[in-house]
Amino acid sequence: MSNTPHLTFDLNDPGISKGHLVIPNGSDSEALSLPVFSLNKGEGPRLLITGGCHGNELEGPIVSRRLVDWLPEAQTCGRVIILPVLNLPAVQAWSRDTPVDGLNLNRVFPGRADGSVTERIADAVSRLILPMADTVFDLHSFGPKWDFPPASTTHPIADADLMAKTVRLAEAFRFPMTLVWEFHDTPGMFDTWAQSQGKVFVCVELGGGTVGSESLAIYEAGVRNALIALGLVDGKAEYLTYRQQKSSQTLATLSSDELKSPARGIFEPRCSVLDEVKLGDVIGILHSMDSLSADSIYIRAPTTSIVCAIKSGVHVDFNEGVALLARPLKV
Ligand SMILES: [Zn+2]
Repeated sequence: MSNTPHLTFDLNDPGISKGHLVIPNGSDSEALSLPVFSLNKGEGPRLLITGGCHGNELEGPIVSRRLVDWLPEAQTCGRVIILPVLNLPAVQAWSRDTPVDGLNLNRVFPGRADGSVTERIADAVSRLILPMADTVFDLHSFGPKWDFPPASTTHPIADADLMAKTVRLAEAFRFPMTLVWEFHDTPGMFDTWAQSQGKVFVCVELGGGTVGSESLAIYEAGVRNALIALGLVDGKAEYLTYRQQKSSQTLATLSSDELKSPARGIFEPRCSVLDEVKLGDVIGILHSMDSLSADSIYIRAPTTSIVCAIKSGVHVDFNEGVALLARPLKV
């Protein structure tokens, strides 16, 4: 086997083709073969859809595989490449990070050819897959500890033109929330790297909690809306019904908008995602479980805002995030 990353088929083949992206072996692991689907209908937008960057966010791989079932028929032009699982060892272990080297794939881009397995995956994707696309949908989710609405997200981008294009496309999913998320821990992220290459990159957060069939239908419909907006699929985009509402809002959250737990204990949520809260409203209550005398602590909104994420009844450590607040994006 060749010791450089390679594809077992030609992405330029017309029509529908499939094969593997081979990540070469290294001192820490055998070679990996990641399934790749290529839907090539000639001229038009070039889109890459990826899932399974984090191994405990399985909505993305599921939605990706569902797309493989109907998109070949529905796609009218252009090219779509789908990698349902970027980090196969992490997905198999249901672990956010890669078990072998403990690395977060979303912090090692553009990777290293001679690095550990996570870095070799990033290197192969950066060199062989990303150059074939102008737009990327990277499908993540918030995981079982959080309540979070289906959302398309981006971080602030220095290039104003790319930022405007990215927010426009993120809004085209018509998810209940489009979120511009200020985040300091960005070096090595897939989106940061793709944006440095001029790509429009939308990080899709497919809700929180456990994976259920009703929510999967919403996620898939949102991705279809975005495919229609790109001109890859015919049809009419629709707002999605989420918790009895059909609406969509574009919000911004700063890194200072994360509320942290003041102590260890069980966090009891007292509001739901997309609720508007005013200064002093109770967001949740922290119940100490290792003390007979400690009072429960009320965690209150520091300002009028909208709750965009809240922990859903789990034991948290001191200083662990329990809620994320946001406000309408000012343009
Ligand atoms: Zn993720």
